[in-house]
Amino acid sequence: MDFDHSPKTQEYLGRLIDFQEQEILPREQAYHRELLAREDPWVVLPIIDELNAERGAGLSNADYAPLAEVMGRSLITSLVCNCNAPDTGNMEVLWHFGSDEQKAQWLEPLLDGTIRSAFCMTEPDVASSDATNMQATAILDGDEVVCNGRKWWSTGVGHPECKVSIFMGLTDPQADRYHQHSMVLVPLETPGVEVVRMVPTMGFYDAPVGHGEVTFTDVRLPASAIIGGPGQAFGIAQARLGPGRVHHCMRLIGLAEAVLGLACERAISRTAFGKPIANLGGNRERIADARIAIDQARLHVLHAAWLLDEGRPEALGAVSQIKVAVPNMAQDVVDMAIQLHGGAGLSDDFPLAGAWTVARALRLADGPDEVHRGVIARLELGKHGHGKWATA
Ligand SMILES: Cc1cc2nc3c(=O)[nH]c(=O)nc-3n(C[C@H](O)[C@H](O)[C@H](O)COP(=O)(O)OP(=O)(O)OC[C@H]3O[C@@H](n4cnc5c(N)ncnc54)[C@H](O)[C@@H]3O)c2cc1C
Repeated sequence: MDFDHSPKTQEYLGRLIDFQEQEILPREQAYHRELLAREDPWVVLPIIDELNAERGAGLSNADYAPLAEVMGRSLITSLVCNCNAPDTGNMEVLWHFGSDEQKAQWLEPLLDGTIRSAFCMTEPDVASSDATNMQATAILDGDEVVCNGRKWWSTGVGHPECKVSIFMGLTDPQADRYHQHSMVLVPLETPGVEVVRMVPTMGFYDAPVGHGEVTFTDVRLPASAIIGGPGQAFGIAQARLGPGRVHHCMRLIGLAEAVLGLACERAISRTAFGKPIANLGGNRERIADARIAIDQARLHVLHAAWLLDEGRPEALGAVSQIKVAVPNMAQDVVDMAIQLHGGAGLSDDFPLAGAWTVARALRLADGPDEVHRGVIARLELGKHGHGKWATA
């Protein structure tokens, strides 16, 4: 078994790591301080535009995953590199399912990084873990589609360059469960679209990208704004979410690596009761356990990425496994690092409070842990019950 990254990935990795270490990391803390100090944080500070990135590189999931890990070591590199959620997932949707017209209008500028996008599926009024609950509608009216509904946790709508959202709505309640909903490309400037408020995640607004609550009131568009045709939303969502979850997980592994590094530096450099903190209590074991957990998680995610690339059916269960395992792992590693830092761990002198929030949020975003555990258990029990458990 060859554990080396492909030559293409190694080349990109070298360039990305140099770029990050020389250009981004030395400026990141100042970037966050400047943004937080602003009365209006919903802006793109010049540093983001200055740190130019490049266009899609045609990488497989397994090739891209190590790059996502490196980007996850910082809270702004994926934005600088135009590889942040939800833009990457939305670009993949357009790449695979968009019409030529949709690609020209939206995919091109997204790839160029001249506009940003949002993905509007979750609704405040219904349990959105179950996508069949969605109440928002995307109704066909002649050669037009009319969208109505209230969405929230729409990541990206705070960005001043966010120009388009992918809206998921009910089109045909009579169709089978998996063909009722459609995805519609809704330009944010269309009459009837309103960003009602930005929603904080445990106190963090995550500006300038942010997460918004958005209302759609009689938003009327040509039916050609529907992606892949009416009723195709579930198939598209499945295709979008696999790679998107791999990206999230690899970024979290990068985050956990960076945080473990901070924990080790603190544990060596600070002394209590006559010893470095590393040598007190069970701290060496905690550091060792974090190393084991990160390395296990990385192999797990790379394997899931490879299964996706190979089009193997096991990819479904593997993606759900990593989506449970990695945010929990990252949350535990950050928590350990906060504890080692003492009070400083909760201050904004270190990026740990933000890192913990990112990991915690990903136990909900893209499907709560329980829903993924449900998928894993169904597949596992199905192996033993000749399919009778498969529908439970
Ligand atoms: C930071 C962040 C960013 C997000 N970005 C986006 C975005 O860009 N676009 C978007 O559309 N959404 C986004 N979301 C929303 C996210 O995907 C939803 O919050 C998530 O799918 C859960 O839906 P819900 O909040 O309605 O929870 P609910 O469906 O109400 O579920 C609540 C709880 O019920 C329990 N539960 C639900 N189903 C089961 C089950 N089958 N078995 C056992 N227990 C269960 C779980 O404990 C679950 O956490 C984001 C969320 C966060 C926190």
